[in-house]
Amino acid sequence: MTEPTHEGEAHGGALGSRLNWLRAAVLGANDGIVSTAGLVVGVAGATDDRAALLTAGLAGLLAGSMSMAAGEYVSVSTQRDSELAALAAEKRELREQPDAELEELTEMLQNRGLSREVAHEAAVQLTERDALKAHASVELGIDPDRLTNPWHAAWASFLAFTAGALLPLLAIVLPPAGWRLLVTVVCVLAALTLTGWSSAGLGGAGPRRAILRNVLGGALAMGVTYAAGTLLGVAGV
Ligand SMILES: [Zn+2]
Repeated sequence: MTEPTHEGEAHGGALGSRLNWLRAAVLGANDGIVSTAGLVVGVAGATDDRAALLTAGLAGLLAGSMSMAAGEYVSVSTQRDSELAALAAEKRELREQPDAELEELTEMLQNRGLSREVAHEAAVQLTERDALKAHASVELGIDPDRLTNPWHAAWASFLAFTAGALLPLLAIVLPPAGWRLLVTVVCVLAALTLTGWSSAGLGGAGPRRAILRNVLGGALAMGVTYAAGTLLGVAGV
């Protein structure tokens, strides 16, 4: 979920930005499903104890969602800091050397395919309206009014991961002992089919390979942790 706002800008403003947030949410939920499913299925390989399963699943949910949120907060904050620094530098340049900045904007518009005269006229008009916004957009590719908020990004990751993690957690603790694994594996693979399909759709890619990769990845995670849990359970650790 890095810089959803900016990628969105490139694909057409608010709609692109919303799609990117949505895609990030689907990927966050996917993470929550796979990591928590791997965890609880691994513990289920070692023990039948419902309390142990609940404890492990809940700890995994909290640890994962907080780690995702913290990572997202740090990454978006860093990005925001560098954007703010770039905007401050731009503001200073506009104040100290307006002619050079006008020429710079003109050349950038020329590079985008405008003739010298049209680029100059456009640069003059853009500068009159909102010089900083024009430079930020053409030069830095950012919208100074719509920088990503690190707290929003952190909360979004936290909620997306938690929503995904709840599924394997409930699927492993609610059914009777004999049905636990089957219910969990079926629910998880069905959910991964759905998240694979949505993220492919939101990214404009064909769904089949995305679904296959996603389902195989989840099946592998559960298979490996179940094998490890079973070995530990048999060894009586
Ligand atoms: Zn500039």
